[in-house]
Amino acid sequence: MTACSCSNEVSEKILKMMAESGAHLTGHFKLTSGLHSDNYMQCALMLRYPKYAAYAGAELAKLLEPYKPEFILSPALGGLIIGHEVARALDVPFLFTERVDGEMRLKRFPHPGALRFALVEDVCTTGKSSREAARILADGGAVWAASGCIVDRRAADCMPEWDLKSLVKVCFANYSPEDCPLCREGLPLVKPGSRPDAK
Ligand SMILES: [Zn+2]
Repeated sequence: MTACSCSNEVSEKILKMMAESGAHLTGHFKLTSGLHSDNYMQCALMLRYPKYAAYAGAELAKLLEPYKPEFILSPALGGLIIGHEVARALDVPFLFTERVDGEMRLKRFPHPGALRFALVEDVCTTGKSSREAARILADGGAVWAASGCIVDRRAADCMPEWDLKSLVKVCFANYSPEDCPLCREGLPLVKPGSRPDAK
């Protein structure tokens, strides 16, 4: 595990929960973003334990509370459990977007109007799904007040200006498919992500 700045107690606890639940996988993975990597954080494996999910949600809620979100928004599927836990900790509603024929939609909920919201994800690699979800709400007049995730695995040059709160920041190599050394080695590619249109 390469952790960039996990010197604080919460990061260390989350990394321990990840390790204990087998959520940190190594191999050759196609990420939801379409990038390839030799490391994958399958947060669902950690979040299957409700006490771990509740802990992560409560800690993320502390980071987002100063922004006074009036609801939490997550993109399905990855953000569902952690988003709900954050919303529970802050005692605000939880909404999610989902892909319908490849397009992110607020399918099951009426637009909440001009309220403040915090965007919550499990893992952020490029933030593409998250930003699509937030844009839908912001286009309808809601105020995107803050963003948070359990694991921030963005490359250093991936939107450094974005104020993304995270419980853990890790440095894993992310490769474009054309420039992936694991592909060149011929290692079989595993696709645990959920965005169908990524290549
Ligand atoms: Zn590859």
